[in-house]
Amino acid sequence: MILFPSATSTAAVLRLSFFPTVRSPAARFGTTPPVGGERVRPRVVILGSGWAGFTLARRLDKSRYEVRVISPANHFLFTPLLPSTAVGTLEFRAIQEPVRTIEGLDKYYQAKATNIDLEVGKVTCEDSYSLSVFEVPYDYLCVAGGMKSNTFHVQNVDELEGKAVFFLKHLYHARQIRNRILECFERATNPTIPAEQRDRLLSFIVVGGGPTSCEFMSELHDFIKKDVAKWYPDLIGYIKLTLVEAGPGILGSFDKALSDYYVEKLIEKNIDVRLNTAVKGIEVREVEGCPRFTVAKFADFDLPFGTMVWSAGLAPVNLVAKSNLKLDGGRIAVDDYLRVPDTRGRVFALGDCANTPDHLPPTATVAEQQALYLADCFNKYYSKFDVLDERNRTKDLPLPGDVTPYLMPWNILSFLNRIFCKSSPEFHYMNRGAMASMGMGGGVTDLNKTHLPGPKTIKGQVAYFVWSSTYLTKQLSIQNMILIPMYWFKALVFGRDISRF
Ligand SMILES: Cc1cc2nc3c(=O)[nH]c(=O)nc-3n(C[C@H](O)[C@H](O)[C@H](O)COP(=O)(O)OP(=O)(O)OC[C@H]3O[C@@H](n4cnc5c(N)ncnc54)[C@H](O)[C@@H]3O)c2cc1C
Repeated sequence: MILFPSATSTAAVLRLSFFPTVRSPAARFGTTPPVGGERVRPRVVILGSGWAGFTLARRLDKSRYEVRVISPANHFLFTPLLPSTAVGTLEFRAIQEPVRTIEGLDKYYQAKATNIDLEVGKVTCEDSYSLSVFEVPYDYLCVAGGMKSNTFHVQNVDELEGKAVFFLKHLYHARQIRNRILECFERATNPTIPAEQRDRLLSFIVVGGGPTSCEFMSELHDFIKKDVAKWYPDLIGYIKLTLVEAGPGILGSFDKALSDYYVEKLIEKNIDVRLNTAVKGIEVREVEGCPRFTVAKFADFDLPFGTMVWSAGLAPVNLVAKSNLKLDGGRIAVDDYLRVPDTRGRVFALGDCANTPDHLPPTATVAEQQALYLADCFNKYYSKFDVLDERNRTKDLPLPGDVTPYLMPWNILSFLNRIFCKSSPEFHYMNRGAMASMGMGGGVTDLNKTHLPGPKTIKGQVAYFVWSSTYLTKQLSIQNMILIPMYWFKALVFGRDISRF
């Protein structure tokens, strides 16, 4: 259920009630094909169901556009809470929303787009189950495929992915990590296990010093301190936590004082933080009498491990890397209107996979604001251009008029956007600051780049309160708004679940 109906969806309902003759009944009520095969609504095909794709699909006016989403993930994932699910602070289903809950969505295909034919205007897709290939023609295409984890071709990272090395981008990654961590603890209690093998299994390495790595490490520490100490008390003295970062500091995009504070807190928790330390490769070694084990190789030392979480950077997804779209730093180059150049305004790219002229960072807030901007352009301006008229086939889509930027993270406060922000036809990103949690009860919030009055940096429990209340109130369904605090309460009072299945 949608908590705060958006202004656009309310407007759409009003339009339908008061001006019923604007579109045919087929156009208004969904999927019935119009008589004679003639289409009355332009088709917008959206590739991806993440922050950008899902938000855009929700906000497009379905009475004006036939909206189709293609994505291998049949759900939207609330990524900021993903590290919490990897240790069981939250359950997986509480941080996702199925794509099919989008009101008025015409079609969703669980598939991967593999090719874009710009000449004909169609996308080739591969069904996620049968791997069979099919094509979807579009009038407008919005590419929102995100990015994937970058392994930098480090030896054996790809080969061991899902076994001892894990990415943290999708829900299934968090599930894999949680199972692997529990597997390591269960195996380490086995009475026949050699001491060296037990130590290796209980060595956890997190690679990367960004917010995802730091938050995961903090969550893992909470889990060990509260739950492992209770259920596996004999193992607690053998656990080793290491965070490695190739650069000189962690949380590089944050205020220096906050990142120093974060490092201090990690060190206080007995986490070995190694800066200026890059993984050179991973080896699988064998010693007589022991099962094979994994060792991370660094410039001047080796570190055996049972689990490595790799969150060291981003690389383009195959669709983008292999497309003939112009790339800028591995991302699709777009103009100030999120249009892909030389496509007559028929193809847009947004979110992590798109690079705007001002090189915005790949974050959820950028992706979400771009989707809201593009939805406004489509609903208010592009709907006036008859893209289905053959005579317009070679014409450029006119530029949009003024659009109000999205400063407020909540729809209920969107009226403030018009008061505080200057409208313009181009996309303008409104920086709302950055947050990182430190597990339960701690965190950092950096408001330096915002124009908000008040303190510019917040740390400790207040920052945790800001982090948790913001993400709780940003949930898209009432169901998750109820489930999330219940799981937080459960983890705090009764502990996390340690069953492995
Ligand atoms: C663990 C974690 C925590 C984060 N925390 C924060 C945070 O606190 N704050 C913040 O601002 N940002 C955060 N981020 C970054 C944020 O999640 C991303 O910037 C955001 O998800 C980008 O949105 P997107 O829609 O561009 O891509 P994504 O959300 O990654 O979505 C991409 C979509 O495209 C689909 N897809 C991939 N390939 C194809 C294909 N070939 N065809 C069709 N679909 C395809 C995927 O299945 C997915 O649905 C975090 C990221 C992670 C991983």
